[in-house]
Amino acid sequence: MPAASSVEEAPPVRARGLVKRYKEVLAVDHIDLNVRAGDVYGFLGPNGAGKTTTLRMALGLITPSEGSVELFGRDPLREGARALDGVAGFVEAPRFYPYMSARKNLELLAALDGDDARSRIPEVLEIVELTPRAKHRVGGFSHGMRQRLGIAAALLRRPRLLMLDEPATGLDPAGMRDMRLLIRRLADEGITVLLSSHQLPEVQELCDRVAIVDSGRVVYEGALADLRRQGGAGYRLRTTDDGRALEIMSARRGISHAQAGEHGLGFQADEADVGSLSLALAHAGVGILALTPELATLEDLFFRLTETAEHEAPPPPAAAAGEEAQLVQAR
Ligand code: ATP
Repeated sequence: MPAASSVEEAPPVRARGLVKRYKEVLAVDHIDLNVRAGDVYGFLGPNGAGKTTTLRMALGLITPSEGSVELFGRDPLREGARALDGVAGFVEAPRFYPYMSARKNLELLAALDGDDARSRIPEVLEIVELTPRAKHRVGGFSHGMRQRLGIAAALLRRPRLLMLDEPATGLDPAGMRDMRLLIRRLADEGITVLLSSHQLPEVQELCDRVAIVDSGRVVYEGALADLRRQGGAGYRLRTTDDGRALEIMSARRGISHAQAGEHGLGFQADEADVGSLSLALAHAGVGILALTPELATLEDLFFRLTETAEHEAPPPPAAAAGEEAQLVQAR
């Protein structure tokens, strides 16, 4: 592929063959990523899949064992801080001085970046809806407020690319909704967002493109809508006897992925097979209460793509935070 003719045209993130080995652990195994301008790009995977390690490499915080990554056409390893021009975000979780106010913390960060960053403090506090808490000690902030302050810190330098490692993890439903609305607003203003997550419903609502990683490898990269279409026609079924219905479905050719879920039974089939299934259910004395077609959810697809792998337990917090959490400011 020819090199992009200018930095402006280069994609926000382009990773090729990224590998990271920690002794015998292959944390990242030849990952390619293509984040395009304007994407809200979800980087998904089970615990230990290699998401954080990949983001660390993308931000130049750790060195890949193999492969390369470019941000707007610049390699953070070769070009250092210059490659982070227009890039901001956090890995693991944003960290602040707990005994200082939100504003003071932002002032300290802005001091590294000059007058423009300092003048933006009121605006970024407003964007993340922390203006009323600006003078309060960060030590007294909730988890959601700290996450939002992390985004405020990232916004100080007017990033064109925001990289967020699990921004919604640990938030309550209202906090998640606020985070989703905030990220959507930033995306609408033209900021490209790359976020890692295992909050699948959140990602489904927020992201237009995704990479799903499992055991260090990308198992899908592309438009979420395409993935859901490829998932095939799915149906949701509620009956007078779901247990019996599931037995009948499981025994029929043409019906696949039959499973009980929170909202009835899910399955995949062609229309003709759905017709004959409804007759078979009636014949067995099972009444149909509702039968609705639906696209596979991201959750269905995620498990289909990753269910064969052996998942490891999440690392204990101390181990996961072995390297200090990083707040990365644009340079
Ligand atoms: P989670 O969703 O649990 O945060 P993740 O997808 O971000 O997981 P990583 O934190 O990137 O996964 O970890 C990928 C693998 O690399 C794991 O097996 C992890 O234990 C290992 N790993 C990560 N950092 C190190 C390190 N500094 N030393 C040794 N192994 C590491």
